[in-house]
Amino acid sequence: MNEDAYDLVVIGAGSAGVRCARMAGNFGARVAVVEGKAFGGTCVNVGCVPKKLYMIASHLPATVRDGQGFGWTYSKGSLDWSMLRDNVLNETRRLSGIYERLLTNAGNEVIQGFARFEDAHRIRVGDRILRGERILIATGGRPWIPPIPGQELGITSDEIFRLPKLPGRMVIVGGGYIGVEFACIFQAFGCEVELVIRGERILKGFDHSVREHLTTEMQRQGIRIHANVQLESVREESMGARTITLTNGQEIRCDTVLFATGRRPNTEGLSLENAGIETDTLGAIPVDKNYATSAKSVFAVGDVTNRLNLTPMALAEGMYLARSWFGPDHHAPPSYENVPTAVFSRPNVGTVGMTESVARRHYGDIIIFRSEFRALANTVSGSQERTLMKLIVRRSDDRVVGAHMVGPEAGELIQGVAIAIQAGATKAHFDATIGVHPTLAEEFVTMRTPVGD
Ligand code: FAD
Repeated sequence: MNEDAYDLVVIGAGSAGVRCARMAGNFGARVAVVEGKAFGGTCVNVGCVPKKLYMIASHLPATVRDGQGFGWTYSKGSLDWSMLRDNVLNETRRLSGIYERLLTNAGNEVIQGFARFEDAHRIRVGDRILRGERILIATGGRPWIPPIPGQELGITSDEIFRLPKLPGRMVIVGGGYIGVEFACIFQAFGCEVELVIRGERILKGFDHSVREHLTTEMQRQGIRIHANVQLESVREESMGARTITLTNGQEIRCDTVLFATGRRPNTEGLSLENAGIETDTLGAIPVDKNYATSAKSVFAVGDVTNRLNLTPMALAEGMYLARSWFGPDHHAPPSYENVPTAVFSRPNVGTVGMTESVARRHYGDIIIFRSEFRALANTVSGSQERTLMKLIVRRSDDRVVGAHMVGPEAGELIQGVAIAIQAGATKAHFDATIGVHPTLAEEFVTMRTPVGD
């Protein structure tokens, strides 16, 4: 069988794969990109982008309601679900097309189909064999559902953007950021949302003040959180309804069960064994500091390595490899420290650096600054929503090692704070920075009194 030969074969045209292939092509490399589903991958088609558009839609009713305090008359609106869904799908399709064009414009050969390994230099797509001097696995991840009776009656984040109609009552399983975001979104759309979480609190791994504060805000919105409990089974009722049973015996009837119970790397079906590529127990591909797998011609980046599963990380990794293989200059590898991130809940969470408990474990002696307040706008609108801001400072050298916020546009705001923290800013630098008045953000430079332990 004929083989086509390339400098680089990329499997998966998501955030990591597109960035690497496009840059490699622009540097003059001969590149083939194989994509099994939609160009742009998770982020564009079933992740960050449609989710953020839903979040924007979900914040609008509160904005309109709050307008009453400012003198605007208000009549209760209603959501045209099919219009929202279709407009968002149109936008994701448009972006997916742009991603495909970015690849062809960079001179890449684009191949639609699922790839699997023949050996460490060759992959098969349908009846074609592609030979790569290097092969990059950028196949991302997929939702994982726990094996319980009736699991097939639930949906995942992959299906949520195509729901035929808006559910009246929804059970969301999982207290990670995806579960929390969809809980806030669908509650604001008018659904009754029940959130089932395995642990004591939502958002495991986030700062405890953030977790507590957001829990209160979500409960104020009417989201019912069932903590310390798991889903035992789902059964189908008449008219498409579902009843879920929890491990504490409680039953909840609903229209839709959304599993936000974690993700697994997409390595099944790649025939990695043919190339001698190892995986861990979850199916993730371990890599060294140069992103090489156990086969030295094969590399892996993005969610398939199951490290910091965020789009900007996948982009940074893909970009680093394209530059170091084909670019003219040397570039430093991406840093995994002080990676800022947001939860697009209501209100948003923005976070960068260490949580209080991690900082305490690492450094022992830390100083905490925390402020919780009702934003100026809410004093007139009547909204009871409160904002939280928190700084964690290492006492030995005054370095700010963590910043956390729950409040409007926290994701936007934390980006600037992240630059300061990445640059090694001390609390004295924050104190010497003049605030922008009147804003929420100024609180980050005006917190003067540490809170007790
Ligand atoms: P992906 O984007 O998943 O791309 C992998 C591609 O490989 C896919 O297109 C897939 O079809 C293809 N593929 C798989 N197997 C094969 C095969 N054998 N052959 C050919 N093609 C194959 N991150 C953020 O930073 N901010 C957010 O707000 C955010 N929100 C999210 C919300 C949701 C609901 C989800 C699910 C994720 C979210 N993420 C967010 C995470 C983000 O989407 C991922 O970290 C990012 O998309 C990972 O990029 P990737 O290139 O590794 O993989």
